Amino acid sequence: MTLENNYGDNTGTPSNHAVITRGERYALLVRCPQCSFYQVKYSFENSMNNNIRYGSKRAGLRRCCANCNSQFRMNSMHNTHILAEVRANKHRAVAALKDVADCANMHPNPSSVSRKDLYEYYNTSQNYEAKGVPKPFKDWNKRRRGA
Ligand SMILES: [Zn+2]
Repeated sequence: MTLENNYGDNTGTPSNHAVITRGERYALLVRCPQCSFYQVKYSFENSMNNNIRYGSKRAGLRRCCANCNSQFRMNSMHNTHILAEVRANKHRAVAALKDVADCANMHPNPSSVSRKDLYEYYNTSQNYEAKGVPKPFKDWNKRRRGA
């Protein structure tokens, strides 16, 4: 079987079908495994789903850290450095993820920031009362579980 790449074919070159086959563009809240820097990265929905379905060897989801420049796999079968997802065209939602990244990076020791801290940063930035797991975090967890 041939996997679709980001360009909608298996040659690595852009085609006229690119827009149709890549799916929606998403913004992802990601933590660098090397330096714990939090940042927002972008990916197409098909790339994420292929990565989850076929594994990172066949459908890698690699990005470079904006802080330490190391390249890392955002998600693999055993580990994920993605924390939350929102549609990239939802500008307020993307801004909220960037707020969370900024708050986490301002922590004196970003590697000790917990999921609970991230949820709190998110809810605070949205003026929500802190309760439960915010939707962007739930959405990614659901996708990763294949729900
Ligand atoms: Zn880094």
